[in-house]
Amino acid sequence: MFRKILIANRGEIALRVIRTCRELGLKTVAVYSESDRKSPHALVADEAVLLEGETARETYLNAEQIIAAAMERQADAIHPGYGFLSENADFAEACAREGVVFIGPDPHAIRQMGDKTRARELMVQAGVPIPPGTGSSVTSDKEALQTARRIGFPVIVKAAAGGGGKGMRKVRAEGELPGALKAARSEAAGAFGDDRVYLEKYLEEPRHVEFQIFADRHGNMVHLFDRECSIQRRHQKLIEESPSPLLDETLRSEMGEAALRVAGSCGYVGAGTVEFLVDSDRRFYFLEMNTRLQVEHPVTEMITGIDLVALQIRVAEGHPLPWKQHEIPRHGHAIECRICAENPMEQFLPAAGTIHSWRPPSGAGIRVDEGIRQGQLVTPEYDPLLAKLIVHGKNRAEAITRMIRALDDTVLTGCPTTIPFCRYVMDHPAFREGRYDTHFIPEQFSGKELQYGKFSHTVAIIAGLLHNDNNHWDSGSGADPASSADADKLKGSGLTTNSISGQNRSRNSNTGSNAGASWWTRRKYR
Ligand code: ADP
Repeated sequence: MFRKILIANRGEIALRVIRTCRELGLKTVAVYSESDRKSPHALVADEAVLLEGETARETYLNAEQIIAAAMERQADAIHPGYGFLSENADFAEACAREGVVFIGPDPHAIRQMGDKTRARELMVQAGVPIPPGTGSSVTSDKEALQTARRIGFPVIVKAAAGGGGKGMRKVRAEGELPGALKAARSEAAGAFGDDRVYLEKYLEEPRHVEFQIFADRHGNMVHLFDRECSIQRRHQKLIEESPSPLLDETLRSEMGEAALRVAGSCGYVGAGTVEFLVDSDRRFYFLEMNTRLQVEHPVTEMITGIDLVALQIRVAEGHPLPWKQHEIPRHGHAIECRICAENPMEQFLPAAGTIHSWRPPSGAGIRVDEGIRQGQLVTPEYDPLLAKLIVHGKNRAEAITRMIRALDDTVLTGCPTTIPFCRYVMDHPAFREGRYDTHFIPEQFSGKELQYGKFSHTVAIIAGLLHNDNNHWDSGSGADPASSADADKLKGSGLTTNSISGQNRSRNSNTGSNAGASWWTRRKYR
């Protein structure tokens, strides 16, 4: 049994892991960079260790420093969260060498699934359908062209070591292929230190549907149903729900069984996610397996009532899974909206600012996973995810209504966010009817929708001012004294900042008239 766990992460996921550890009676060690000194995860953990260095690479990605901290504080195990070192097989190996348990699968499984071309080979052996494409990475432009002609355009060029949508290019016609290969190779080399790319058929009207799986060290394996993640920008998810409105029970159990075959193909242990694309004919294809906890795991927790982090910890301790497949509960419907520091009116460009006010929603069926504080400087150094709103309802309609209420009740000023966009989606007829695919954003949203009418940023700005007048002007704003200096750092950075400054009560004119305070406070405006 573990006594102490080090959490090798920051932000909402670090806090989320700490909460479960506390419920399990485990001590926690946080690690933090200098700029995160006052971040909630560093303050809430039982112990906190400062990581030397400035950049993410020098701190949260520094395996040596993190393992040294775990050993110094006598932590039994390291929970990597998602991102950073969570899918780094060398890190998992180094943990094992030093006698610290890595809460995740074995390095071998991480490596097999981290190489997408290797994963495709394994799927062929396991009888799981993959999109037509190259067997392994392409060795020349000529070979790529031959494959593209064979499978037919459009195709997609992808990085073998890919992740985060990097090194991915859609190619509509032959003439575009050489440029796309070159760009994808160089992006992949920069992001992953590995320039291998491969080709896949680009599926039309695809839906991204994934399965949460869990395996223990005793040969037991289950899936915890599906998540629909088709609302994406730049091939990255923004809104997720479970169950997927697309699947009937037959397709669900077929895909669930395929997901277990995927996990079995690499001797998987722990929590993992098998991602599929489903085409317009309801045929499904393996996309990739993520060998870690996903950002969107709370929707699964909401419909099953199972704490996935607690289960990860118990499995890492060597316990068997407590259920068989048919015993996994499933109730109602859950939706997650990601609140990211991005400006939806400017193609979701990364945004920055100092969080002036933050008031999360509450009430029955609402969960907020967050790791931010008032006065915090948001910079592009880290992932733009600030918080996640998750709701549960007895059915999909109730979950949507509840999410609208939760978004309307959320106040987050100081930095543009995705809140108004999420609000727009909840009202969109295609979303409400469950008829949407991964092209929803390019086809249904330009950013202009937030300018006028009920999604208007002007409305939100006035509402925010009212809220701030009511709650913050007279209380000395509650902002960190360092915030003014921090805000100065952002000037001239070219990043989108918000149009309300708690420091000086005036609109910040940095970004012109369409810069918006990206929160939603319609209730206040009424
Ligand atoms: P990453 O690991 O970089 O996130 P994925 O392989 O998981 O990349 O794909 C991310 C998204 O890109 C998918 O959810 C989907 O929207 C799009 N995509 C990937 N492959 C295809 C394909 N073959 N056809 C159509 N869309 C695709």
